[in-house]
Amino acid sequence: MSTGFLQSDLEELKSLGTYRSLKTMDSPQGREIILDGKMVLNFCSNDYLGLANDGRIKKAAIEAIEEYGFGSGASRLVCGQMSPHEKLEEELAVFKYTEKALVYSSGYMANTGIIPALMDRHSIVIGDKLNHASIIDGAILSRAKFERYPHVDMQALEEILKKLPAGSRKMIVTDSIFSMDGDLAPLKDIAELSKRYGAMLMVDEAHGFGVLGSSGGGLVEELGLGAQVDIQMGTLSKAAGCFGAYVCGTKILQDYLINKSRSFIYTTAMPPALAQAARLALKIIREGKHLRAKLRGNADYLRAGLKGLGFDTMNSRTPILPILVKDSTQAVAMSKKLFAEGIFVQAIRPPTVPEGTARLRLTVTAAHVREDLDHLLKALRVL
Ligand code: PLP
Repeated sequence: MSTGFLQSDLEELKSLGTYRSLKTMDSPQGREIILDGKMVLNFCSNDYLGLANDGRIKKAAIEAIEEYGFGSGASRLVCGQMSPHEKLEEELAVFKYTEKALVYSSGYMANTGIIPALMDRHSIVIGDKLNHASIIDGAILSRAKFERYPHVDMQALEEILKKLPAGSRKMIVTDSIFSMDGDLAPLKDIAELSKRYGAMLMVDEAHGFGVLGSSGGGLVEELGLGAQVDIQMGTLSKAAGCFGAYVCGTKILQDYLINKSRSFIYTTAMPPALAQAARLALKIIREGKHLRAKLRGNADYLRAGLKGLGFDTMNSRTPILPILVKDSTQAVAMSKKLFAEGIFVQAIRPPTVPEGTARLRLTVTAAHVREDLDHLLKALRVL
């Protein structure tokens, strides 16, 4: 078969300003990184609490490698389950006040494993239009009818729910913090609607875990909605600075997923050292009020500074701070100019965000210091 379309499709992406390429880091993750050979201030990572290169977590991982080796060697159900996996799940369940937790190898795999396990061609999945791609892919894989409502539009959500046959199996699924906009889902309203219309509720706390809630449990904890959310999913790859993901819920949910979730069943268990590292990260998160306070302070300072410069930060209320540019080519040009000034901020373009909403996506972490933020604001002022 001819592969000519590869070249022509990539050329088209280039002409639209949406071509992507990889940059390589030669340093650990952090507020300063060496990227493509250059030391830059980093405003791109999801390492919100600065734990990706934390000495205590590294030590825990190294010790676990000594004790358990590196690879797990098999899927969880065959013979890849080791005690760090089991203990991590026990601790996650305690942390989230749920009966059980189940760990997946990544957030992408969790979303593409949970939704198809629970929903089938006779079910309906209903989600916010700006939900993460992994949720969308999970819904598509499930073969359920897939309804999407305009971003945070509760009236539209209710209109969809009203029309569904009573007794149909349905799930509402939403990000808690939207990954490219940094705004919050109206979770109280969503929980109320899910109860009224008998829908299961799944919340993706990828960006909320570690960041929101007094012990870092996410938006669900912050709003006290634990009892109303059937499926609390989150990643260990962002604020926890590790890798992997979790789902917290009832014992029967865990049992069901172990038996039916293909991305859990048909993949090698996460390396035990990652699970062990995540256990310590969870403890640091639980005790990390000071980290969350620093993070919030940094985010508020930067948000106020950006607004003062006249930038449109959309409805961000979190450490994810978009600067709406609209045009993809212009967003890339701005990112390049900042890079020349020693600052790394990614341009985010369609299809990751809707057409006409290309943006710079800034993320701030607890590891940033005030001078970093001032340096960024100064560079943006003359952009
Ligand atoms: N869900 C959301 C909302 C995300 O932003 C991400 C980020 O990548 C994921 C899921 C996927 O998580 P992971 O990177 O662990 O695969």
